[in-house]
Amino acid sequence: MNAEILAVGTELLMGQIVNTNAQYISRKLNDIGVNVYYHSVVGDNPGRLKDSLLTALNRCDLVVMTGGLGPTQDDLTKETVSLVLGKKLVLHEESLERISAFFSRINRKMTDNNAKQAYLPEDCIVVRNNNGTAPGCIIENNGKIVVMLPGPPSEMMPMFNDTVIPYLEQKSGYKIVSKFLRVFGIGESQLEELMLDLIDSQEKVTIATYAKDGQVTVRLTSKSRTEEEGLNEILPFQNEIASRLKDALYSTEDEELEYVASKMLLDNNITISTAESCTGGLISATLTDMPGISKVFMRGIISYSNESKMENLGVRPETLDKFGAVSSQTAAEMAEGVRKMASTDIGLSVTGIAGPEGGTDEKPIGLVYIALAHNSGTEIRELRLAGNRSRIRNMTVLNAFDMIRK
Ligand code: ATP
Ligand code: MG
Repeated sequence: MNAEILAVGTELLMGQIVNTNAQYISRKLNDIGVNVYYHSVVGDNPGRLKDSLLTALNRCDLVVMTGGLGPTQDDLTKETVSLVLGKKLVLHEESLERISAFFSRINRKMTDNNAKQAYLPEDCIVVRNNNGTAPGCIIENNGKIVVMLPGPPSEMMPMFNDTVIPYLEQKSGYKIVSKFLRVFGIGESQLEELMLDLIDSQEKVTIATYAKDGQVTVRLTSKSRTEEEGLNEILPFQNEIASRLKDALYSTEDEELEYVASKMLLDNNITISTAESCTGGLISATLTDMPGISKVFMRGIISYSNESKMENLGVRPETLDKFGAVSSQTAAEMAEGVRKMASTDIGLSVTGIAGPEGGTDEKPIGLVYIALAHNSGTEIRELRLAGNRSRIRNMTVLNAFDMIRK
């Protein structure tokens, strides 16, 4: 099956909002083995919407539309689709009840144009909306499928996941199961080389890699009759890849590195304190993304100046003089200092040059030291990062969490 995603909304064309719906739907369709051939965007204009729909129906089996299901005059998606497909719009009682219940729940009066949202093309499959008023629908017509969903992502996403995906899976008669292995510290090309024989020999299980923000994900996908059968097919590949990746593999459940590291601290009740120079608090902020982290995260110091490194962390003046602020020695003393002051199991520090100014031949932009002090010593990681200030800082944060996790 192949698909086109047709987003409706003049604000998309004007650059006021980004078409994140297309990205989300593409990814989900890809996960279940539907090939997305086209993304298109059209404004709230019935003539052009009609043309776009006809084009999409001409070239794809499945057209997923988002937007324009609202109660106002410029919301024309249902009307236009019904016209093109020759369907009548009929009142769907249950949707009308749900809309009026929605309004009483948020304590607002329902207007007549809200009732318009309860009219749906005849013979459609209704896609319930638990987070807003506009129901969506699925229409089968002449061997083609048209799906209409509301524009707001918070409404569209659960509707797509809970109703449209199971519908498409059932239609295709098989189940696509995917496992996502998350990897840090190995580049995408190196990773592919490590798995080349497996990738080449793939038959029932597809192996693909993709890289984003310094992390690589390996996707293992199988097409089978049931979820259990799919997972069983994937398992030997997963185990083989895991044994080759060793500790570069940090999650088989598609989790973020920061989450895995923070969870490890919480699960093992390991207390932590941080001393940050070039990341200016990003590591602390990321730690506090994790609910419940107050149980183990005791103190975070942002120590930008040499004075603060000495006063707040007990870094020795000789160390700063001799090796400089950006050095493994300073990083070590920062980590040991904060660990001692906060009496935590581990102390983590970073110091580096994020640029764009301040690099020298000896200490170029992108040179960063991370230190992790614990009861059996202090580990240092030296990074030589490429990229702009923001990338250098973000990669530093990831490396810090990678050290914590290990
Ligand atoms: P509503 O009932 O809110 O009017 P609707 O189905 O009519 O819903 P639109 O009016 O087209 O949808 O869009 C409503 C809002 O949803 C937009 O202002 C925007 O914030 C968001 N939105 C719409 N389309 C997209 C898209 N393709 N990607 C991301 N967000 C979108
Ligand atoms: Mg609208």
